[in-house]
Amino acid sequence: MAAPWEDVLRNETAVQEAARVAVDAALLAGVLMRTEGEPNASDVVNYAPFTLLPSAVPSALFEEAYAVQQDFNLLVDAISQNKEFLERTLASTIKVDDFTARLFRIYMQVLEEGLAQSVFLGINRSDYMFDCGVDGTPALKQIEINTIAASFGGLTSRTAAVHGQVLKVLGKSKEASRLLPNNPSKGLALGIAKAWELYGSPSAVVMFLVEEVQRNIFDQRCVENELWNRNIRVIRRRFRDVFEKGSLDDARRLYMDSQEVAVVYYREGYVPKNYDQQNWEARLLLERSRAVKCPDIATQLAGTKKVQQELSQPGTLEKLLPGRAEAVARIRATFAGLYSLDMGEEGDKIAAMAITDPDRFVLKPQREGGGNNLYGEELRQVLERIRDSPERTSYILMDKIKPQPAMNYLLRAHSPLQVSECISELGIFGVYVRQGKEMVMNEAAGHLLRTKATEHADGGVAAGVAVLDTPYLV
Ligand code: ADP
Ligand code: MG
Repeated sequence: MAAPWEDVLRNETAVQEAARVAVDAALLAGVLMRTEGEPNASDVVNYAPFTLLPSAVPSALFEEAYAVQQDFNLLVDAISQNKEFLERTLASTIKVDDFTARLFRIYMQVLEEGLAQSVFLGINRSDYMFDCGVDGTPALKQIEINTIAASFGGLTSRTAAVHGQVLKVLGKSKEASRLLPNNPSKGLALGIAKAWELYGSPSAVVMFLVEEVQRNIFDQRCVENELWNRNIRVIRRRFRDVFEKGSLDDARRLYMDSQEVAVVYYREGYVPKNYDQQNWEARLLLERSRAVKCPDIATQLAGTKKVQQELSQPGTLEKLLPGRAEAVARIRATFAGLYSLDMGEEGDKIAAMAITDPDRFVLKPQREGGGNNLYGEELRQVLERIRDSPERTSYILMDKIKPQPAMNYLLRAHSPLQVSECISELGIFGVYVRQGKEMVMNEAAGHLLRTKATEHADGGVAAGVAVLDTPYLV
């Protein structure tokens, strides 16, 4: 990949001046986060970390990622309606992974009772890296798809303007004009608004289910504001509030503080630490309700790493998307090698292969949010310890994707300005709405580029590793 800003990177005075402009532009544009020290206060905020320069992204791969997003929406939705597939795929995982098992139990409980929900809303983000082949040609390879609480659709809608200004300051107006406009939060809000409308109760509200610690509130506010602009009321509540004040009526309509809730949009609930016993009870209450959950429990399970691995098995996509050969081919082209560690001869072989050559792989547990995967020597040690134990089935193994690094400056509050060797991860937001069996909306809603220094194997923005970026198509 050509590094478009090489001349700039060597000019220290220009970089320092541009960084000062960049930080102020980010604050003005609302690229904001609450601080670590005061994570629940909006009277002390700072800019969310971002790159000084937009990163080069091959335009063919960017287009490929957009072109496959509606296929991924259909796929996730199909999985969420396929009990047999989810049961079979997660059977080994739920024996050893307590978190997935608890989600699965709620899923079964809700199905047994019969679904009260008839409108379904999916908001996901499919993440990719650009794998550098032996001949140097980059290929689009999926890292994972996030089916719950996919974030940064709000803040990322504001980075293009910041990077545009930086480029202008650096004398690159022509390049600045080539940066693409991007507004995922609007697309997300359109999906939520559609689901709210189909729910059919004009006085009902949209409830954002939020964390106890809300550092990333501004990202969520971008989506909230889009809803308020459409005269849809939004409330923010935690699981704890639902436990204390949520209730269902005879028709399983959900009420919070005597307001009917049409849509529950989860920005929480994807990791074990989000739950104590009361929160699990609150989750069950929400899932049993008629309200549109984004995502419902089945769709959350569709986003597990184990499901991702099973999708790569020959014949699986064809069964899930019958009669859609082109969609299947587009999806499959984005898959990296994924391997099951289920007990048996095949799993034994895979484990042995990874122990011999750990740098070729990533070992992934059924977790979200960054910082959970294992690499290199640590991967080897863990796999050696659990190679003969059923514990290994709580992980999947994946080929490590190796993108071509590029130099950039990562701007972080209270950190010195220094050049880093970086790699990027592109995410495409997908939004869909289904009413009964009919898909009434299926869109790609925008993109997110995150960039991190190559010294970190893992990590997202919330995990403090990656920073926000803007693609510069080459
Ligand atoms: P999480 O659910 O925690 O976000 P991911 O699968 O997205 O889990 O992995 C977290 C991070 O680890 C990614 O953002 C990426 O930087 C890195 N990573 C994950 N899978 C791979 C892979 N196959 N090759 C290279 N890096 C990877
Ligand atoms: Mg991820």
